Parts: sequence; C-alpha cells; structure tokens
Amino acid sequence: MIEKILIANRGEIALRVIRACREMGIRSVAVHSTADSDAMHVRMADEAVCIGPPPAPQSYLSIPAIISACEITGAQAIHPGYGFLSENANFVQILEDHDITFIGPTAEHIRIMGDKITAIETMKALGVPCVPGSEGAVPDLAAARRVAAEIGYPVIVKATAGGGGRGMKLALNEDEIDTAFQTARAEAKAAFGNDEVYIEKYLQRPRHIEIQVFGDGKGRAVHLGERDCSLQRRHQKVFEEAPGPAIDAETRARIGRICAEAVATINYAGAGTIEFLYEDGEFYFIEMNTRLQVEHPVTEAIFGVDLVREQIRVAEGLPMSFTQDDLVLNGHAIEVRINAERLPDFSPSPGRITQYHAPGGLGVRIDSALYDGYSIPPYYDSLIGKLIVHGRDRKEALARLNRALNELIVDGVDTTIPLFRELLEEPDILAGTYNIHWLEKWLESNMG
Ligand code: ADP
Repeated sequence: MIEKILIANRGEIALRVIRACREMGIRSVAVHSTADSDAMHVRMADEAVCIGPPPAPQSYLSIPAIISACEITGAQAIHPGYGFLSENANFVQILEDHDITFIGPTAEHIRIMGDKITAIETMKALGVPCVPGSEGAVPDLAAARRVAAEIGYPVIVKATAGGGGRGMKLALNEDEIDTAFQTARAEAKAAFGNDEVYIEKYLQRPRHIEIQVFGDGKGRAVHLGERDCSLQRRHQKVFEEAPGPAIDAETRARIGRICAEAVATINYAGAGTIEFLYEDGEFYFIEMNTRLQVEHPVTEAIFGVDLVREQIRVAEGLPMSFTQDDLVLNGHAIEVRINAERLPDFSPSPGRITQYHAPGGLGVRIDSALYDGYSIPPYYDSLIGKLIVHGRDRKEALARLNRALNELIVDGVDTTIPLFRELLEEPDILAGTYNIHWLEKWLESNMG
C-alpha cells in the first residue's frame, strides 16, 4: 500500500492531489522551487522539500532533484499532476528503474500517445474514428502537395511532436501548401527539436469534444462521458462543460464505448482523455492525453467520483471502485479558468494578491492555491484558479456560474474573471451553440 506520495507539481493541481491524499489517509510531500517557498501547496502538504531555483528546468522539471526528494522523504509514489513531467516517458522509465510508483500509465503508453503519428495509427487500429489525413509523416514538399490534393483543401500541417497548439499551419488552397509545410517544419524544429510533420483535413467549424476514460491496467476500462472544450483562445481551453450541449445520450454511449474498449484492449492504467473534433455528427480523433486534465472537475461533478483517488487506487494495484453501470450522469457542470492575465491581450499579470474571496454555496467548487497576501511568481503558468459549478441542468449551472463569479474577488492582479462575466451575456454561450472558432472571433470583435 502507498503510505506517502510526492507531488511533482505546484499550484492548484498540487492542492488537488494533497486533498485526495488526506481523505485516503496517505501522507503527502510537496516539492517547490525557491520562488514557491510561500506557496499554498507547501503549507498544506505534510512535508515539503525545496528542489531548486525558480526556472522550471532546474526545479519542477529536474528529474534528479525530484528523485532525491523521494529518497529523502521515503515517498513511495509520485503524482505528476498535469504539465511538467506528467507526460514524460523518460521520467516514468527512470521511476520504474528506481522502484518508485508513477501514478499514471506506463512509459510505453505515454510514448505511444506522445507521438501523434503513432497515436493515430494505434487509435485507428483500435477502431477509433480519425481525421482523414496522410498515412504517417510527410517527408517533403512534393509529398505534401500530393497528400493535400488527395485529402482536399483546406488542410492543416501538424508537428508529430506537437503540443500546446504549436507547430500547426493551415493551408486553404494549393497556393498555401508550400509555406504551410515549410513554416510548420521550422516551428516544430524550433519548439520540439523534431521537424517531422503530418497533414490532416482541416475541419471548418468543429467542436472540441473529449472523452474521459479510466483503465485498471488489467484490461478493464470505463468512460465517463464527454467534456465540450470548444471555447479556446490560441488553442488553449478557457471554459469547459460536461455534458456537451451538442451530445445526446445515444451518441455519448456510442463514442464512450469505442473509447473504453480501445483503452481496455491496450491495458491502459489510470486516467486518460481521448480528444476529438466533432462536426456534423462525426467524431475525429486528434490526440490522447495520458494524464489528469485541468478540466477533470466537471466530470467529477456530474458523475460524483474522485478521479485522483481512483488514480491512486489503480496505482496501488486495486480495482477501480466503479463499473460502467455505476456511472450515472447527473446534472450539468461548467468550469472557467481564472488566469492572472491582463485583458484584452492576455499578457501575464503576476504580483501580490491584496484581497481574495472565494465564492461558496450549493454546487460551487473552487480549485485554487490563492490566499490573501500571496505573491504570484512570474515564472510559471498563469492559471491561478478554477471555478467549477454544478447544477441540475445547464440553465441552473449557468445561473450558478453567474452568481459565483459575482461573489469571487481577486484583487491586486488582473484576471480573466471579467471575460467570463461578459461571455455569460452572449446568446450563443447561453444556448450552447459555439464551435472552436467562436471565442477567437468574439475576442476580435469585442476586445480587438
Ligand atoms: P496540441 O497537442 O498542440 O494541443 P491538437 O492536435 O490537440 O494539438 O490540436 C489543438 C487544437 O487545434 C484543436 O483543439 C483544434 O482547435 C485545432 N485543430 C487541430 N487539428 C485540427 C483539424 N484537423 N481541423 C481543425 N482544427 C484542428
């Protein structure tokens, strides 16, 4: 049994994991950089170890420092959160060699899904619907032209090693393919040190629908429905909801079953998310994330489960605590991401929090590491909190979100809170009729 878990992360997700540990009677170890000595996760964990200076490569991404912290504290397992080392197969391999349990899938599964071409090939073979595209990498310009013409314009050139929306270039017609191919390659090389690219049909007005899956690593797996994360800025999600306004029970059951069977077949362990674009009733696989997602709380709200607790159970070799039949969808949940950013350009806004007041009441959850007087350091992601609301239906969830946003006070830095107040006035948001381009267009006309 795991008695002590080290959390290789910071901020709200570190708190999220510490909370699950507390409820399970497991001791928690926080790690932190010198910039985070006063951070909430350090205060809330049972023990804390300083692992290096502020820049992440020397602290939160330093594998030797994190393994040393495990050895010093006697932690038997590591929860990676999201970001940082959470999808680093090399890290997981090293932990396996050190007999430290990684709370997540195997290094092999991370490797397969981290390479987009292998991921697509694997999913296709497992019967998951994919975007029409090149079979594998596109080696040169001549091949790019030929493949794009075969698929039909518009097409998108994407980096095999891609992530965070980087290394993607659109070509609307054959005049644009040369530039798209060459710039995607150059960007991929610069960002990921790997210039391999592939080509997909560009979908014009899809929604981003992702299926939450969970496997026990021994051939059993379930799905926990979908999340609609179509509201994105620069391919970054800002508002997520579950269930998706465009998905009915029959569609959910059909795609959910396909995803659960796919991960069961490969003996996948723990939480995973299979991301799709969804257009005209069809699903198109784009990638799988082999970790807990930022937006996991909306799924927890509607299914009444604790996904982190479940991750820890599976890492201990225990069976999942629910079967597919136990998972009954209840109501509607919405999450908004509160970033320390200045509108309208979303530039980072670090600094000292002079006043913080969290909303409360029925159906309101705040996952945040903020406190009065806390100084947000300039070195890390700008996400400072997530507000999650749950209602009996979408209308109630929206009203609750509106109410909770009005209670929430974060003073001292600029935040994205005003953006959500404005979005809640928009008929398309209220009706749930939006696609992945909606927010960019809205920002252009309202904040441009
Ligand atoms: P990343 O790993 O960089 O996040 P993804 O493959 O998940 O890359 O794509 C990120 C976003 O880019 C998607 O949510 C969608 O908005 C857009 N996108 C990706 N592929 C396509 C496509 N074939 N057609 C239209 N939009 C796409």
